[in-house]
Amino acid sequence: MITNYQNATTEIEEIRHRVFVYASDENAGYSFEVDANGDLLKPTALIRENFAKCEAAVANGEMLDHGIEIYRNSYRIPASGSCECGERIYLNGDTECACGRKYNVFGQELRSFRDDYYGDDIFDD
Ligand SMILES: [Zn+2]
Repeated sequence: MITNYQNATTEIEEIRHRVFVYASDENAGYSFEVDANGDLLKPTALIRENFAKCEAAVANGEMLDHGIEIYRNSYRIPASGSCECGERIYLNGDTECACGRKYNVFGQELRSFRDDYYGDDIFDD
């Protein structure tokens, strides 16, 4: 039997980009992944250099600063629970724990049902 059952949830991840486009062509430009404060997430030397070039291009009118654009991704975390052996397992359809116990998506154990239904005697002559 599963204990500590947790319902499936949908998580929403927000990814922020600071976007600069060319004044002469707003379909072309640069974007940089940033955190909630607008700070660069992966500030390698090359990324900092390109970011500085974009800011300079905004200052001289070659580029436009579109600010931070937010993209949202959603993903599902399946229901989960603790197997009798203590292992935490995710119930993504019928799931087998490393210990051999099987559960359906609601955390109901399937092994006893299977053993009753498909018992060895069915296949004996
Ligand atoms: Zn187990």
